[in-house]
Amino acid sequence: MIKKIIADANTHEARVALMEDNDLVEILVEMRGKERLVGNIYKGRVANILPGMQAAFVDVGLEKNAFLYAGDILCDESDFLFDDTQDPSNVKKKLEVPNIKELLKPNQEIMVQVLKQPGGSKGARVTTHITLPGRLLVLMPTVDHIGVSRRIGDEQKREQLKEFIGAVKPSNMGVIVRTVAEQASDEEIASELKFLVRLWQKVQEKSDFVSAPRLIHAEETLLFRTVRDMLTSDVQEFIINDKDYYEKVMAVVNILSPSMMDRLKLFEEEGNIFDYFNIEDKITKALQRKVWLKNGCYLVIDETEALTVIDVNTGKYIGEDNLQDTILNANIEAANEIARQLRLRDLSGIIVIDFIDLEDEGNKQKVVDALNEALKHDRTKSNVLGMTELGLVEMTRKKTRRKLSALTQATCPCCGGSGKVYNLDNMAMRVRREIIRTVKSDAHGMFIVEVSGPLAEYIVAHNNQNQAVLPHYENAHFFIRSVKNAHPEQIIVTQVTDKGALSGTQVFC
Ligand SMILES: [Zn+2]
Repeated sequence: MIKKIIADANTHEARVALMEDNDLVEILVEMRGKERLVGNIYKGRVANILPGMQAAFVDVGLEKNAFLYAGDILCDESDFLFDDTQDPSNVKKKLEVPNIKELLKPNQEIMVQVLKQPGGSKGARVTTHITLPGRLLVLMPTVDHIGVSRRIGDEQKREQLKEFIGAVKPSNMGVIVRTVAEQASDEEIASELKFLVRLWQKVQEKSDFVSAPRLIHAEETLLFRTVRDMLTSDVQEFIINDKDYYEKVMAVVNILSPSMMDRLKLFEEEGNIFDYFNIEDKITKALQRKVWLKNGCYLVIDETEALTVIDVNTGKYIGEDNLQDTILNANIEAANEIARQLRLRDLSGIIVIDFIDLEDEGNKQKVVDALNEALKHDRTKSNVLGMTELGLVEMTRKKTRRKLSALTQATCPCCGGSGKVYNLDNMAMRVRREIIRTVKSDAHGMFIVEVSGPLAEYIVAHNNQNQAVLPHYENAHFFIRSVKNAHPEQIIVTQVTDKGALSGTQVFC
């Protein structure tokens, strides 16, 4: 399999595509200036303390003050040893439920890291427990602790990693070993640890130097996260269109995975790099509701606020009297495509899949197994809960980023996201009611009723018949005007005078 990363960076956005054998398998998009704040480190100033909520607001220079819970505040055990309660169990208790008023004073300067993106009316949630993630390790400079990812199952390997980290890490700092480190050499791990410790020193130096509120360290942008998480040893090429970014990425690769340096390439052709590699079309397809399978079946993917529903449809593929084997194969092909689509669209949360009905219990299990197998290629964790009585497969997928549709699409202004607008029968009656509501039955003169093309045609056609759509007034006349590209629910009633249009109403249902 040929694996390539293609990056399109410009001043407005950065996009990264992961290709496997010319298939688009992942697409990441980040708008400049809207980059995520999670992981950013700020030097903040305590704005006010809310003792009742055991929390404080911290001014970090963002639009809204950040929210800091007492439980997210680092407290050094030594702070309590000189407390007048010398009983160690008391000290422990205090560590578990620190009193916010003892931990912080208004106006105090404090270094915090964003845990949760600000959103809606809420500010960011921050912590004083700083973590600096690398590709193989996560450095926790404020706590002394060694952890190994639970996904490294081999006990002996876990012990070996713990021992190695214990020997090379600075005392009083913590390190978590990530799953990928299982395959890494000691040198690679040690060099990354060195890099992260150096990064932490830089953060501290900067913090000493600046006054609050101020951003001290921004979590790596998309391209840097790509190097960290996507640029694995099986990637043959990493092609970037922007010289500036190419150089920045080179610097990071040089530290994190120097053996990969020769895979980096600068794109020097004319035009859009995503067009050049045929990715633009593939992104458009990745947002469509219907996905065709090679065998003639298709998937319908519906994203709602609460969950994603994927319906497997037989299309023309399956006739009346099909063998269970045919249906089984169709479902297995669908399972493979679904795994691909989940990754590509970055769908997360609860996902419900309606496969084509199978009678045999063993065959049902085969479909679930195929789905589980296909999901192994996904870096993001998911959990398949099996098939319910009605033949639905329920699964969850971990949320890591905003899904592709949320990054690139807005709710349809026509239907408000429902996918439906009033039909023509209903709209015609709405036109009638709107005229009766706004034009008195003894009115004189001419009125223009502006509606969408299809609705205008409908009204004209139906108004000729016995049941008139438009009300019949003695001295008032109505003209239907078809407006090109009008909203299907638009109704505008305007009176025409010699001075042109005088009064009117405008209705959007
Ligand atoms: Zn719509």
